[in-house]
Amino acid sequence: MSAQTLNQLLSEAAECYRLNLTEKAENLYIAALQINPNQAGALFNLGTLLLRKSDLRGDQFIKDSFAQDSKNEIDRNKAVELVIQILLSNAYKKHAEEWVRFAELNQLHFPALSELKRQVEIPAYLEKTIFSPEKNQLLERYHPIESSSYVYAIDVVGGCNLRCPTCPVGNQSQMPKGIMQPKLFLEILEKICRENPNHNPDIWLFNWSEPLLNPHLPDFIKQIREKNLTSFISSNLNISDRIEQVMEANPNRFKVSISSLKQEVYEVTHERGDIQVVISNFEKLAEARDKYQASTEIWVGHHLYKNTIEEMQQIKALADDYGFGYRPSYAIMAPIEKAYSLIKNLGDNALGIEQQLFLHPKTITENNKLRRSGNMDCELRFNMTAINYDGSVSLCCGTTKDLSDTVDKKTYFLEKNRVELEQLKYGHSFCSTCMNNNLHLTIQDL
Ligand code: SF4
Ligand code: SF4
Repeated sequence: MSAQTLNQLLSEAAECYRLNLTEKAENLYIAALQINPNQAGALFNLGTLLLRKSDLRGDQFIKDSFAQDSKNEIDRNKAVELVIQILLSNAYKKHAEEWVRFAELNQLHFPALSELKRQVEIPAYLEKTIFSPEKNQLLERYHPIESSSYVYAIDVVGGCNLRCPTCPVGNQSQMPKGIMQPKLFLEILEKICRENPNHNPDIWLFNWSEPLLNPHLPDFIKQIREKNLTSFISSNLNISDRIEQVMEANPNRFKVSISSLKQEVYEVTHERGDIQVVISNFEKLAEARDKYQASTEIWVGHHLYKNTIEEMQQIKALADDYGFGYRPSYAIMAPIEKAYSLIKNLGDNALGIEQQLFLHPKTITENNKLRRSGNMDCELRFNMTAINYDGSVSLCCGTTKDLSDTVDKKTYFLEKNRVELEQLKYGHSFCSTCMNNNLHLTIQDL
């Protein structure tokens, strides 16, 4: 093969890489490396392509590219920053940490280094390991994926105006219904502050609910701010109640979850919802944000299904119009017990919506099994407490199961201290089922 062929392959591969035609780029780099196995640029780009799809062989290709790059044509600062970002986006925290150490050892400098370093270090408020009775072994912890602070997910409403089929409100009967009252909320908030004297937790005002349904929501946000804590709201925005007052209260973060701009699709994935109402409420939300000069970070969370992924550009453009961010994520089946019943083919699971999921629970569990050692703890129990509208505690935000492992016995947040709540979490029988099927939330380390 001639040098001309090699150059052609490299330039075609680079173009495919730039256009995000990842599979084609990968094949072209492999072909180029068959001609010259020491081509540093090809080794590096192939390495990043592999890491993007969670193939850790990419790590070695990147190390080889640096070894072969005798003329220093690869900018080490940019290259290592990119590698760390890819690893973090795929929840390879431990591998990302190794590259952070590499950057420090080699005295690399790039603006994001200190932030990336923060994202791989275990926060001071967390123990680094925990003994797991169900596994009879020590489990490691890590810097949480979901939040850099301890999270209290407080369902200020029991219930929702919609019935999404991937949510227990839509796929389970007998979900609790009610509104959290101001006295209870304040008592919970005060206990949170007492139990976290050296750390400011993050307060999520939702779990399986539409928080705008609670008339006291603006006051709750103000109280959180007064206590120097951060607040986060997620809404389906099918109602406009309290948008003004909420923006005046200035929550830290506000996510609007949508799936599609086509009503015939939206009304299936967000059953009972009306996308035109949501769009008109975008306008109200943006106006209220501007009127009160709220510093709230607002973004559209786009749920990706097979029949909604084609709308990514369109929904991003709509979010841009209002100055909102855009964050797509694959829709998954919730709660965990529903995903488990789909994996095991238990009961009547004829929802239909699972046909539109990119990641069927069976695929998730199989993929996770390949990429998890089983030595890592679940962050939904080490970094989060989920509280229901009546002050009772759930095992975690991914399940509707009570923290109490005893049928018909609730555990109330105000009646147990933090250590007692931790003990109940780590003794709960459902965690074994969940972890054995790799449905828990943890990092990838294989
Ligand atoms: S809008 Fe949210 S809380 Fe309501 S049913 Fe849908 S997923 Fe559940
Ligand atoms: S192991 Fe599963 S059930 Fe237990 S806390 Fe984690 S996600 Fe929830």
